[in-house]
Amino acid sequence: MKTPTIPGLDIPVRNIYCIGRNYASHAKELGNKVPKIPLVFLKPLGTICYDGSSIQLPKQSSDVHFEAEIVLAITKSGKDISPARVNDHIGGVGVGIDFTARDIQSISKKQGQPWTIAKGFDNFAPISSFTELTPEQDLSELDIKLFQNGFVKQHGNASEMIFPIPNLVTFLSQQFTLHPGDLIFTGTPEGVGQVSSGDQLEVLLNNGEQSLKVTVE
Ligand code: ZN
Repeated sequence: MKTPTIPGLDIPVRNIYCIGRNYASHAKELGNKVPKIPLVFLKPLGTICYDGSSIQLPKQSSDVHFEAEIVLAITKSGKDISPARVNDHIGGVGVGIDFTARDIQSISKKQGQPWTIAKGFDNFAPISSFTELTPEQDLSELDIKLFQNGFVKQHGNASEMIFPIPNLVTFLSQQFTLHPGDLIFTGTPEGVGQVSSGDQLEVLLNNGEQSLKVTVE
């Protein structure tokens, strides 16, 4: 298998970091407490696919959910990056879907086990193309919308995040040295829901600056 690349930036994907429960309204809809430090998990590389992909529903799950998320692409290495320097390390911004087998995740949560299987099936992380970040870009103004079969199901804005983007990147870089090709899924706003075979999903960054369309098989 070829290493997946980041569309628009043409660099290989390295790690797929994801943040859970970063919008208070979404933590609430799933009955979770608002975290005090960011909740971090990883998705395997085989989850990456692109605009126009079909998502096959795994036979292990009967409750796969969409989670639309703003996705950051790291293009400059860094450790202990200060919030003021975060823009220098983010080369691009796009959108993605953190598909989640909610039934499998619920069992893992109850058993205190990691979410890797629930979050890690093939094609469970479609990503759009990435817009290059300008040094002046205000990361708190990024906006995301998800449509399921033409109806708006999720609408979030980075200003509503519990841990704003600069703080997230700072926190991650305190744990792990970040390198070009690392992607960061920044968490999903409220409105997550189940997908069915035949569904068309569309995610927009800033009302269409970037878009991602996928079909559920
Ligand atoms: Zn998510």
